[in-house]
Amino acid sequence: MLPLYRVSDHVVGDGDQDNKLNNESCDIDTDTDLLTASDSEDSKFNLDLESNYSNGEETDSDIDEEYIIFPIWLEKADDVCIRLNSLIKNGQIPKDKIFYKYFDSVSYAMIDPNHKYDEQIVEFFNSIKFLGGERTVNFIRGPMWHGCGSGRVFNPESAKLNLGGPGRTTRLKHSGYTTASGVIKPWLDSFLTLAVDPSVDVKPLVDSPIVKVIGTAMKNDGTALKPAIQYDEKQQINIGLKMTADIEFVKANPVPKSEFLRENVVTEANVTYLSTTDNRVVMPVSVTYKPKAGKTGKEMKEQFLNEVELLQSCHCCIKAVVTSRHILDKPATAICKSACQACIESASVCDACLTQGQTSHVPSLRACQRCLKENVQCCRAVVIVLASDCESGNKRAFELISQSKADGTLPPQFIFVCLPDAVHVGKSLKCSFANWMLLLDEERACLSMLHTIRDSDPELKKLLPRECPK
Ligand SMILES: [Zn+2]
Ligand SMILES: [Zn+2]
Ligand SMILES: [Zn+2]
Repeated sequence: MLPLYRVSDHVVGDGDQDNKLNNESCDIDTDTDLLTASDSEDSKFNLDLESNYSNGEETDSDIDEEYIIFPIWLEKADDVCIRLNSLIKNGQIPKDKIFYKYFDSVSYAMIDPNHKYDEQIVEFFNSIKFLGGERTVNFIRGPMWHGCGSGRVFNPESAKLNLGGPGRTTRLKHSGYTTASGVIKPWLDSFLTLAVDPSVDVKPLVDSPIVKVIGTAMKNDGTALKPAIQYDEKQQINIGLKMTADIEFVKANPVPKSEFLRENVVTEANVTYLSTTDNRVVMPVSVTYKPKAGKTGKEMKEQFLNEVELLQSCHCCIKAVVTSRHILDKPATAICKSACQACIESASVCDACLTQGQTSHVPSLRACQRCLKENVQCCRAVVIVLASDCESGNKRAFELISQSKADGTLPPQFIFVCLPDAVHVGKSLKCSFANWMLLLDEERACLSMLHTIRDSDPELKKLLPRECPK
């Protein structure tokens, strides 16, 4: 009955929380109407409600109703409380929905400013920030603890709010992330953990007492980013350039040049996904932020080979390496050694390796030195397919990789084949011809048709402006 009728503070409460609430009510509502159970019309109402909500446990008591004397003071709850209570009880305000959680969190914060906000409320306010900016958040939230000073104890009585909600610092406290380029250690770690989990049931390519190899396909594609330099409050750095734009950097480059920006402003997030060959585990594992001038064949070849090499490191070594900003880099995974020169040269397993239990001469299908030493099964992924769209840089990279494979200069741990991504091939064939058919003088056409016609005839190029929409 506490939500409806708060027992006044001279009655001993059941627990700490009761006492707290009682004290609160006493502080705030000293001049509201207090009534006893026996002295007004409302008392009847009180008792009716009481019996409605008490599951009929004591309704057939043999005490005369007239005889009940409450040795306590009861205070009538606010109309809003009563309405809320019945709405919550009959399920119109579900406890797992935002409205309930919002009231719960904000009212708790009014009593205890250190109370943890519900995660969804924080997310909700982050969405408001994303959609409408900090000003909208401030408008909804109100000044809240403004003037209390940072780092001090907030006094609930001095809270000033519109609707209330989590503050900026609370909203900034979300889980870790990185804005650095490269293979992200926690992602690859999760991928391998899932891939070798028996409940996921991924069939390994090689499964021997010393090594377990999971066959994987690697997919790469880029998504465009709006070029900008932005201050990241959590990391306290400027992001959006290839390098970190700190005070030293600004001092060294007082006048930004357009060529510099073209080469250094990030315009693309190049994402690599790894999936097991049976498609049971699919996860992004790497993100590379690229400027406009960063997709030559040579650079993409380097990126692909570097990513494949890192992704083929064994699970133990990945867990063991120390990373900076969650990024795995080459020196860190150099500890995972599995190649044997004698085996590679003879393209078969040498006697020494045979006694170790190795079954292949290909370094990415063998147990690594560390795992052998520690006598544990070496679990690793091996990339057997690399798929990507056929942008000029990627296409050239594929050609270069095939070339060096033919020349025999490709290091032996790379056993993957390069495939153009089927979805992108389909996209190229379609050429967006099917989009937005228009009726032009009883003929159906679309903008890309116009564009193609213009490109096909030099005479038309003179007639139609260059800015003819794509
Ligand atoms: Zn290893
Ligand atoms: Zn060997
Ligand atoms: Zn290993």
